Amino acid sequence: MAGGRKPSTMVEAGQQVFMPSVIDKEGVTTPLGITTEEEDSWAVLRAFFARAEETDVIRALIEVWEVDYIGENPSTNLAELKRRPCPICDRNTFWMELAGEEFRGERNPTSGRCYRAECGAWVEPNSVELERIDCGWPSAHWTKRCESFNMGIRGLVEMRGAVDAAGRPRRARLDKEVMRDL
Ligand SMILES: [Zn+2]
Repeated sequence: MAGGRKPSTMVEAGQQVFMPSVIDKEGVTTPLGITTEEEDSWAVLRAFFARAEETDVIRALIEVWEVDYIGENPSTNLAELKRRPCPICDRNTFWMELAGEEFRGERNPTSGRCYRAECGAWVEPNSVELERIDCGWPSAHWTKRCESFNMGIRGLVEMRGAVDAAGRPRRARLDKEVMRDL
């Protein structure tokens, strides 16, 4: 990803700016930039995730900072993400977004996605029914309704199992294509 500065951005006192950063196994934090738009910080992280498979980065954050604020605790965590092996392709490319900061104790994942373009497996809340979670595997044109994030992960494992048990005539062609890309 090319570094650089967006031209002609004006920043004012009191404005919020966003800082995406990644954390490795040793706890070393590497900031990846600073943006005036939240969406730009997400784009920075997504670009990083797409090429992060061989790195030892295990967590990612987006912090919000207030410009010209002086004092303790000048930033809050807007988002925190954690990496795990993908339930479909087994590669270390699945990033889970954890629940918000108000959540006490162990922060539960709320959604997740594999950032390998060939796979793209995901678990996400339904955009209409907010209590509902769905999981999907675009390469196999599969989506499934599930009861929770963990059930979504299990749903993906089951989808993979259905393809691993290949050889059925009806799906043979699709399976071969999918497995070759994985
Ligand atoms: Zn995957």
